[in-house]
Amino acid sequence: MATIKERTIEFASIQLDANIIELDRQEKFNRAGWDKCSKFGILGLPIPLEYGGSGADIMTTLQALEGLGCGCKDNGLIFAMNAHLWAVELPILTFGTADQKQKYLPKLCQGEMIAAHAISEPEAGSDIYSLKTTAVREGDNYILNGRKMFVTNAPVADLILVFATVEPLQGKKGITGFLVEKDLPGLAVKSLSKMGLRTAMMGEITLNNCQVQIENRLGREGGGFGIFSHSMEWERGAILASAVGTMERLLKRCLDYAKTRQQFGQPIGKFQLISSKLVEMKMRLETARALLYQFAELKQMGKAAHLEAAMAKLQISEAWVQCCLDAIQIHGGYGYLTEFELERELRDALGSKLYSGTSEIQQQTIAQFMGL
Ligand SMILES: Cc1cc2nc3c(=O)[nH]c(=O)nc-3n(C[C@H](O)[C@H](O)[C@H](O)COP(=O)(O)OP(=O)(O)OC[C@H]3O[C@@H](n4cnc5c(N)ncnc54)[C@H](O)[C@@H]3O)c2cc1C
Repeated sequence: MATIKERTIEFASIQLDANIIELDRQEKFNRAGWDKCSKFGILGLPIPLEYGGSGADIMTTLQALEGLGCGCKDNGLIFAMNAHLWAVELPILTFGTADQKQKYLPKLCQGEMIAAHAISEPEAGSDIYSLKTTAVREGDNYILNGRKMFVTNAPVADLILVFATVEPLQGKKGITGFLVEKDLPGLAVKSLSKMGLRTAMMGEITLNNCQVQIENRLGREGGGFGIFSHSMEWERGAILASAVGTMERLLKRCLDYAKTRQQFGQPIGKFQLISSKLVEMKMRLETARALLYQFAELKQMGKAAHLEAAMAKLQISEAWVQCCLDAIQIHGGYGYLTEFELERELRDALGSKLYSGTSEIQQQTIAQFMGL
């Protein structure tokens, strides 16, 4: 019987065959791809059946996402789905009330609603707990004011998990999460254009006296720090599962090319400088996969894996970027052409060194675990 990874590769390579070059050029969200993935079950993979998900364990979920990266060349679509899944669905599942889970999870799993996670601000990036967006309680409502930056999916989102502070003087203890629906008066989204992952929409959000009902608070007042650090552990550990599949796809493509492209009367793969690049690509791919699975195994056992999540994020993102650079080099001038689709892979990969905590922040986390 085919594994979940094999089944996902088959689905993705047959059904997600949109013209990504054109979508990328136009910075267009791949809604048709989103709907096909929802139907296949990607958006609800780790969510229990009772909320409309597939109820898959974490290892199965990550292997399916790995297969998606192998079979689908639209890294922007994959990124949009990952942001939806790890940074909104999972926090609702873990911290939501029974009503919030019933109201949102089935629609999020079926892809009827698109979700975004808004914590970064123009002045608060890596130093995220210095965020300035405020939430002031007035009776049964909170009044939200502030700006959110770099929000993936924001221009197409139906539901946005917004983090604000109920008490700026309390630092991280004041941070609180709110589930904000897109048509809330006072909420405005401005689209942002970017280098890669251009089929995933990104926006800046302005909240101007937005009135959010108390039942839309996620978790307790001041519980946002716990929600964010929980979702960061999952996001850092899992968001690049598909990148492992992407690297596998690119390595296969490079191997095929190195075996067939002839120069100086022989396949370029016979030159040691090219074959050693391919060996390095293989080594980085397998190390990346091992760290991904290490994270999955720990979570499967119900253990904390903040260190392993940071290591997986750091290793996979750095490996992915290097893999794209090597792929371009192995393809020579052709690798530089848009129609060869490797320059887009590189632009897409570069973002992974920035989102969910930059590579420097992952290094800092690992250093802290080492007692530094
Ligand atoms: C493609 C993409 C998607 C994103 N999606 C979302 C999203 O959906 N929601 C959301 O809220 N945010 C999102 N972000 C924002 C992302 O989380 C931030 O860009 C990231 O946390 C870094 O913040 P910053 O850009 O303000 O950089 P800064 O924090 O200003 O960092 C600038 C530089 O300084 C370095 N630096 C900062 N502090 C330290 C330190 N202590 N030690 C060493 N070096 C340091 C950084 O590593 C970086 O190199 C996204 C970003 C990108 C690129």
